[in-house]
Amino acid sequence: MPRPILATIHTATLRANLQALRRRAGDARVWAVVKANAYGHGIERVFDGLHAADGFALLDLAEAQRLRALGWRGPILLLEGVFEARDLELCSRLGLWHTVHCEAQIDMLAAHKTHEPHRVFLKMNSGMNRLGLRPAQFRAAWARLDALPQVDEISLMTHFSDADGARGIAAQFAVFNDGCGDLPGERCVCNSAALLRFGDDAKVASDWVRAGIALYGSAPDFPANGDWGLAPAMSLRTAIIGTQELQAGDSVGYSSTFVADKPMRIGVVACGYADGYPRHAPTGTPVLVGGVRSRVVGRVSMDMLTVDLSGLPQAGIGTEVTLWGRSTSRQALSIDEVAASAGTVGYELMCALAARVPVVVETDSIAS
Ligand SMILES: *Cc1c(COP(=O)(O)O)cnc(C)c1O
Repeated sequence: MPRPILATIHTATLRANLQALRRRAGDARVWAVVKANAYGHGIERVFDGLHAADGFALLDLAEAQRLRALGWRGPILLLEGVFEARDLELCSRLGLWHTVHCEAQIDMLAAHKTHEPHRVFLKMNSGMNRLGLRPAQFRAAWARLDALPQVDEISLMTHFSDADGARGIAAQFAVFNDGCGDLPGERCVCNSAALLRFGDDAKVASDWVRAGIALYGSAPDFPANGDWGLAPAMSLRTAIIGTQELQAGDSVGYSSTFVADKPMRIGVVACGYADGYPRHAPTGTPVLVGGVRSRVVGRVSMDMLTVDLSGLPQAGIGTEVTLWGRSTSRQALSIDEVAASAGTVGYELMCALAARVPVVVETDSIAS
């Protein structure tokens, strides 16, 4: 028998999350962001749940090829654009739309031989200072692109640094709108947090939104946690493979970080940091044991972690343990809560699911 650990991808939940975001987006079209192998869920595994999106956005040309191999003929957007000139050949061949965030990418386009002009998304750096042209250079870049026979439609995009936090998007959105002025072209500015928190302003949501984390059921503004009607698209479950009875003063695990102050029983769980569980999750990080909330105790090791079985006399070898998502009894444990306890974000945990963890796609689950 293999180790009992298993990740389950919930197709019906992906579908419901996409629908919830679509309702929020009004008339805007929705890019399903599937970079990083669909945030660790697997592009092939989420495709069924997300194929009602208007397009897929990602970074990697190999991932774009995988989507085309699945039969997706609709729009695909490369969020970082091309990395070198010959990537444009693949864009032409696969019909990929691509971001243009710098002059060097315009130079590559100007030298590219293509029969079909490309749809591009010109990106402005409105204050995040990662990719994008400064507002002062934006119109000149637009005019250069517009003059190229290699370029068809030009859309305008930017990315917010603080859509999930106290600063919000207002200042950057104003910079973007000033910099674009009356340039024609569709606008695309929202990530999940901007859509959920500010998308009731139709100008913010138009004309395309780029939804990533929310599709997978993580709340981008955790712990503020607006009730967005999202549910976890991934459950990571395993089982207890051993138990120990501790006496007061006994410690558990490497470095003896947890010491029992009274007699207690602990469960040894088949999941460790080599499965993608965060090693930094301290004593107290929530888990579900047989669907009942308990906590990690002691240090997470490579292949195992230990949980508190106090008050869970029925739990023993073989009892299901849910690290995040839903138990088979449908109790929920937010990946955001686990992430916060470990000092990180749900994004990182999803993306870190290790290759050794088997994954199944559940096609007939009840959403939410
Ligand atoms: C990853 C990414 C998104 C999606 O962000 P979420 O917070 O996951 O919704 C949107 N836009 C760009 C440019 C991205 O890189």
